[in-house]
Amino acid sequence: MSPLLMEQYDNDAMQMPFAQRPIVILGAGIIGCATARQLLQNGFPVVVVAEYLPGDQDITYASAWAGAAWHAAGGIKPEQRYLQAVTHRVLLKMAQIPESGVSIVKAREYLEQKPAPDSAIWGRTVTAKFREMSRDEFPDNFYCAWSYETLVTDPTRHMPYLGKQVTELGGTFVRQRVQSLQELYDKFPESRIFINASGLGSLTLTDVLDDRCFPERGQTVFLRTDKCNTMYFRNGQEYTYVIPRPLSHGVVLGGVKQQDNLSPEVDLDIARDEITRAHRLAPDVVPEQPADEDVSHIIGIRPSRRGGFRLDSEKHGDRNVISAYGFGGGGYAFSYGIADAVGKMVENVERENVIV
Ligand SMILES: Cc1cc2nc3c(=O)[nH]c(=O)nc-3n(C[C@H](O)[C@H](O)[C@H](O)COP(=O)(O)OP(=O)(O)OC[C@H]3O[C@@H](n4cnc5c(N)ncnc54)[C@H](O)[C@@H]3O)c2cc1C
Repeated sequence: MSPLLMEQYDNDAMQMPFAQRPIVILGAGIIGCATARQLLQNGFPVVVVAEYLPGDQDITYASAWAGAAWHAAGGIKPEQRYLQAVTHRVLLKMAQIPESGVSIVKAREYLEQKPAPDSAIWGRTVTAKFREMSRDEFPDNFYCAWSYETLVTDPTRHMPYLGKQVTELGGTFVRQRVQSLQELYDKFPESRIFINASGLGSLTLTDVLDDRCFPERGQTVFLRTDKCNTMYFRNGQEYTYVIPRPLSHGVVLGGVKQQDNLSPEVDLDIARDEITRAHRLAPDVVPEQPADEDVSHIIGIRPSRRGGFRLDSEKHGDRNVISAYGFGGGGYAFSYGIADAVGKMVENVERENVIV
């Protein structure tokens, strides 16, 4: 391009109305894709840049491997509970569309101890059919138990579904690994909003280098069974769950959290231990020794962050960077609430730019 034309191009780019400047999202996991869908529905143009895209299966692409159950998190702030509540509302609607991979299931949650004031019990305000179970309905080694209806998302269906939705709404995916956010600023000079939904990527992006981020390995067992309509969740010191995946005719048995472990190899001792614990929790669903042909293994690296996830908007000159990463073991339960919150942050930036 001649210098004269280049100058003309720069001038045109500078004069581009705010709402026509593509919003650039780094990361195509559940957080990046849910956010892209929300922004596209709100009428913004969106480009999603990521190394791994919906349908891919790298172990560091956490969204391909999640359980993924909606479970009310304990010990979180009221505004974070609201993010989960919004997610629940959106997933409940999606559960009417089988292609989305979202299903409504029963849940039985057994508590090792008396619930603390900030425990997961707040979930009763969001879930249907919540009730305290009577003593004869749960094993006597637990203090109390709740039953309710919850939502499970089958990521093998949901991520491709969401990817398709983003494309159909007019969004664009660009497969590219970047070393920094600056690389995106250079690639999209006309853009004013950049959303960092890179999960674990934020540990190594050279202009983010968030040292609170760390990989947390998960390994679960997928057990093929038609008894797949109830979630069992052990609430306490022991971390055991049975998450149904009705559309895939099975249940996911977990779990483990292994900090700073990136091994892609199946650890059979972990798998055996998970089966044993799941059998103790749900003997009617999980046999003590399931047949080998009914068992397969799932390995994924959670994008965890000390102190919890990051969700904020910062001004960098005439650009705005919104950070939404570090969701560890809860990215699905927060996903559509995060997308909604980011959508509001984007509208706040829009307001600052159009009311001058
Ligand atoms: C075994 C297991 C069980 C789980 N169970 C549950 C559950 O029951 N409920 C629940 O809510 N959550 C669960 N999770 C957690 C959930 O999977 C994660 O919190 C969620 O997937 C994180 O999504 P994300 O979009 O932030 O990150 P990711 O899915 O990891 O996506 C990150 C994206 O950023 C891209 N990226 C990163 N760095 C770069 C770069 N430098 N250049 C280009 N692209 C980059 C990647 O390619 C990818 O597209 C589970 C996770 C595991 C592993």
